[in-house]
Amino acid sequence: MRDLFLASPAFQNALKQFDKAADNLHLEEGLRERLRFPQRTLIVSCPIRMDSGVIQVFTGYRIQHTLTLGPCKGGVRYHPDVEIGEMASLAMSMSWKCALAELPFGGAKGGVTVNPSLLSIAELERLTRRYTAEILPIIGPAKDIPAPDMGTNPQIMSWMMDTYSMTEGFTVPTVVTGKPTIIGGSYGREEATGYGVAYVIESILQEQRRRMTEVKVAIQGFGNVGMHAALKLAGKGCRIVAVSNVNGGLYASTGLPIKNLSALQKNSSIQEYKDADSITNDELLTCDCDILIPAAIGRVITENNADQLRCSMVVEGANGPLTVEADEILQNKNILVVPDIIVNAGGLIISYFEWVQGLQEYYWSEETVFTELKKRLRNIFLQTSEYASANRISLRDAALMRSIHRIAQAKRARGLYP
Ligand code: NAD
Repeated sequence: MRDLFLASPAFQNALKQFDKAADNLHLEEGLRERLRFPQRTLIVSCPIRMDSGVIQVFTGYRIQHTLTLGPCKGGVRYHPDVEIGEMASLAMSMSWKCALAELPFGGAKGGVTVNPSLLSIAELERLTRRYTAEILPIIGPAKDIPAPDMGTNPQIMSWMMDTYSMTEGFTVPTVVTGKPTIIGGSYGREEATGYGVAYVIESILQEQRRRMTEVKVAIQGFGNVGMHAALKLAGKGCRIVAVSNVNGGLYASTGLPIKNLSALQKNSSIQEYKDADSITNDELLTCDCDILIPAAIGRVITENNADQLRCSMVVEGANGPLTVEADEILQNKNILVVPDIIVNAGGLIISYFEWVQGLQEYYWSEETVFTELKKRLRNIFLQTSEYASANRISLRDAALMRSIHRIAQAKRARGLYP
């Protein structure tokens, strides 16, 4: 199993980051070994009757990295590139993100290797229900709480929640998060991650005594995270000079009309907008801006392009957009890198709020949700930044060290069974 993980570049990247933090913490060998690989890995086979009558079999995964601090938490991804190593690296990253945010969760990730856009709604529902049934033994409100990720959405969470509830014989809203509000979802989940990116940037600029209106921002990926970050930042006066989707980007040095672009994106595509220069996704990364937010996919900034970046700050909206090599290059260029486990924790934190509201059967207003979110993200950033300054290390090293230290402390406190 370990060889399968190690064959994945995404997992190797996650291990390099973990090993560096573990070295800095002088983590004892036994604990290090326990944290290097997931605690539980379940690979499932999901046979589905397609609309044509043919039976097709999809492979699914649910990987739980650590269960020390509480139930696991992590998304479910439907994508053709889903593979075991990347799932394991994302589960590991979720452990660090939960611990850094001081949430009572461990990290998990799951997914099915499938292109969901090629399935009919009925096929997607059958696949989701079968996948849920297959991973049923290891999920539950006290065991592991899935959430949406790439290729999944509130509808898919509803089917997961319904499948689980039907097998229990009663309604269990707390088995997943990211549900529609009518069945126990929290206000703000859709905007949470993007708004969170904006809240973190606001905190950084406050610390640097800079105004939001002074900065030019470029955002790769105009999906859930990128678009909501752009809307919030533009609302606070930032100049968004570039945005992109998978088909390419737009650039305007005077700033782009973000509200118009989000309306266009909902109905068709940002490419319909003609009052800006067309740029490629590679050009967006190296365009003239103060803050670059990669908010699309992983490993887009590598040793091949890191040297050409012209921003003064990279704020990681996506999971793992930088390779370890790129991180080092940016550090040498004095470009501040704000890591994903701080920046995109907003969705996770609101998922935690959703789980808490479900357990208490007491639901909060939208205002309460966003006030609590902002407070928590600001604290995470300030505490990590203080730790980084005190130890003269990068924000990423500080974030990883603080979260790994927290999990290690919990493991030491609990001891080793049997
Ligand atoms: P999304 O599918 O809503 O949007 C992704 C965007 O990236 C789209 O605009 C798409 O066109 C673009 N894109 C896809 N492939 C691309 C490519 N090869 N080059 C450039 N652009 C490309 O996804 P999302 O929910 O916004 O997630 C974006 C990233 O943020 C992912 O890495 C995800 O894991 C991470 N993330 C998301 C959340 C969340 O709550 N949605 C939470 C934490 C982390």
